[in-house]
Amino acid sequence: NNIAIGSPVRTQAIINRYFMHAKKNLGQNFLVDLNTIKAIVQAADIQKDDQVIEIGPGIGSLTEQLLLAGAKVLAYEVDQDLPEILHNELPQTIGGQALDQRFKLVMKDVLKANFQEDAGNFLDLNNPVKIVANLPYYITTPIIFDLIKSDLNFVSLTLMMQKEVAQRLSAKPKTKAYGPLTLAVQSRMHVNFDLEVMHTSFMPQPKVDSAVVTLTPLTQKPDIDDYQFFDHVVKIAFAQRRKTLSNNLKTFISDKNEREQFITNLGLDLKVRPEELTLNQFVSLAKALKAR
Ligand code: SAM
Repeated sequence: NNIAIGSPVRTQAIINRYFMHAKKNLGQNFLVDLNTIKAIVQAADIQKDDQVIEIGPGIGSLTEQLLLAGAKVLAYEVDQDLPEILHNELPQTIGGQALDQRFKLVMKDVLKANFQEDAGNFLDLNNPVKIVANLPYYITTPIIFDLIKSDLNFVSLTLMMQKEVAQRLSAKPKTKAYGPLTLAVQSRMHVNFDLEVMHTSFMPQPKVDSAVVTLTPLTQKPDIDDYQFFDHVVKIAFAQRRKTLSNNLKTFISDKNEREQFITNLGLDLKVRPEELTLNQFVSLAKALKAR
């Protein structure tokens, strides 16, 4: 079949052939916009023989373009109706190799993945891996933190998510989107906002617009030795984002004079609001609080 899975006609034909209905509870919104799919493959910078882990291949719209770009794809899926469709509809040969030499499906919740075991000898996880996914939106942040914490040797995570979440991940200080999620992610990974995707690029169409971001390992790690404490400090600092940092820090330092002295010592204005602090200023803040 020469028509891409990610084109509306082919997707509709697959839906009809298998009497499919998109499962809302699994966050199923299939991409039917080839330009967007190709833009994701490009954002992930897929090169021949790249090792890719895809989360939620669905009917294979993105998977197919990853394979055609030369990737070897290990995919995690939970919908038991999909293995038959994927094995029938994906190209049976890619660059002269059989599908099963280029694609391996693991029917498992990605949050319960054991990458080493699941990859077997299909991928060599000592070598770099790229992660690419049009994520089920209801578990976007758990998946991101799970992947960051995993022992995977990944060079990038290219992920489609709700636009609002993408904006939070890539937010700059002094903006509405800047908050605990921003700092939790930016303290661990570099974030690049790749592209916006309109809701009309999906079938069925989600209520919200989407966006693709790419996370890559930080070249310079921030000076954080206790991430749990760092995340906690950030959450407390933003507990009431309209109030001053000083006000929010009452939780840590109840005495007003002491607190104001502490904030001044950090070189911060007493009226500063949490959203005005940069990542490095939060790093110093957490360090100083821990040292007290
Ligand atoms: N990649 C396809 C595309 O772009 O058209 C489908 C994307 S759809 C937004 C999300 C996919 O993730 C669905 O196929 C769904 O069944 C799958 N999924 C949902 N929860 C999952 C989980 N916990 N682990 C792995 N896959 C999951």
